[in-house]
Amino acid sequence: MNIFCPALPPVTTTVQVGWLPSRTPVVLADLDNGQMPEVTSASRQWFDRASSVSPGGVNSPVRAFRAVGGTPRFVARAEGPWLFDADGNRLLDLVGSWGPMLLGHAHPEVVAAVVDAVERGTSYGMPSPPEVELAEEIVARTPVEQVRLVSSGTEATMSAIRLARAFTGRDLIVKFSGCYHGHVDALLTEAGSGVVTLGIPGTPGVPEHVTADTVVLPYNDRDAVTAAFATYGDRIAALITEAAPGNMGVVPPRQGFNAFLAQTCRAQGAVFISDEVMTGFRVTASGHWGLDGAVEGWQPDLMTFGKVMGGGFPAAAFGGRADIMALLAPSGPVYQAGTLSGNPVATTAGLATLRLADEDTYARLDAIAEQVRSLVAESLTAAGVPHVLQSAGNLFSFFWGADHPVTDFSQAQRQDVARYGAFFRAMLEAGVHLPPSGFEAWFVSAAHDEEALSTLAAALPSAAQAAAAASSTGASS
Ligand code: PMP
Repeated sequence: MNIFCPALPPVTTTVQVGWLPSRTPVVLADLDNGQMPEVTSASRQWFDRASSVSPGGVNSPVRAFRAVGGTPRFVARAEGPWLFDADGNRLLDLVGSWGPMLLGHAHPEVVAAVVDAVERGTSYGMPSPPEVELAEEIVARTPVEQVRLVSSGTEATMSAIRLARAFTGRDLIVKFSGCYHGHVDALLTEAGSGVVTLGIPGTPGVPEHVTADTVVLPYNDRDAVTAAFATYGDRIAALITEAAPGNMGVVPPRQGFNAFLAQTCRAQGAVFISDEVMTGFRVTASGHWGLDGAVEGWQPDLMTFGKVMGGGFPAAAFGGRADIMALLAPSGPVYQAGTLSGNPVATTAGLATLRLADEDTYARLDAIAEQVRSLVAESLTAAGVPHVLQSAGNLFSFFWGADHPVTDFSQAQRQDVARYGAFFRAMLEAGVHLPPSGFEAWFVSAAHDEEALSTLAAALPSAAQAAAAASSTGASS
């Protein structure tokens, strides 16, 4: 198998962060005496400094640990399935930068390609070969005929919606509650993990008239879709959905649901946008579409991608039918642009990642996901923690306290987040970094090896006990 399993270096005895933007290089951890250092003092110092210059001390809300408590770890470096924080702690990573790190951190071939690209200049503002090759790779793997590269998933969905509105000459957008499509104003309504973790229903700063053209429906509900199209049919420009929602926890589409959405849109002249920012190039070589559309014989009109296709750099894309994409400037009148779109370093990283992600890689990711799921589920069951495990390919999450499958956002929100908080903190103390919110998917990489799995297995029993002892009221159960 052509799989990357890094030989892991021994934990360094002294960790110095002179290369970090530290004003005074400090020795952060000394493990020579075999003693564990104060676990989070350096991270805490960084967080204090960050909090005085950035709102909440972070550049994306979930990183602040508000949903789970504790000090966010500041990462000094990462390799394979491991993160090394500013205190010198080694943490098993089950977040993978929220999806991009399909091959694990700092894959040597990706790093080599990036170093080579950087040496030839970091941005040209002119077309360059890697962006063409990345676009070709995306077109070869998915049903899209043409693709436009951007820098974030948010930009991709925002641009796809603009294009759909221009193509149809209609205004309304249909989305599902609990689906997150980036922080696009019109889509920031009932938008899943990030906003629900913070307990805010929508967001101030988005005027009502901006979301007035957004129709929000319960996920997996065919009747609601049929009714919405019956009511608004000829005003609906697009229906956008996560190919398999991963932003309210993982809530897979019911059998045939995406096909039904594609058919409904086709029949009503609306554009069907499948958002594969999270699932794209992760759950199969052609994303979630490889699990349903490719098998059932349907195609979205537009698709959005991000995360894996940037190999850890800011790169994303939207693409689809050539007749729709032809409306984009400069071939058509719909304006869309970006200073760093198709950046040579980001596209090189994405291309190197996709070229390494072959069928063996996906088979390995599925196998690793299965092992992680089983280990966690067994521990929770042994400790008597009620839970429901849900998957979409190698993406998965647990609904805490649930006793039946979760099919939409209202059910997802009923989970007992206090149990997850207790579990998360205990896992972190034992050296395992999980998503800092119960509404997020877990991500494995092809670099998760036996050592990673034993670290996970060793951490689980006491964390499961902590989850068993916690409840939504904070009282022991
Ligand atoms: N769509 C989906 C399905 C996502 O999961 C995300 C990010 N988690 C986005 C869009 C937005 O991507 P970005 O954070 O790169 O703007």
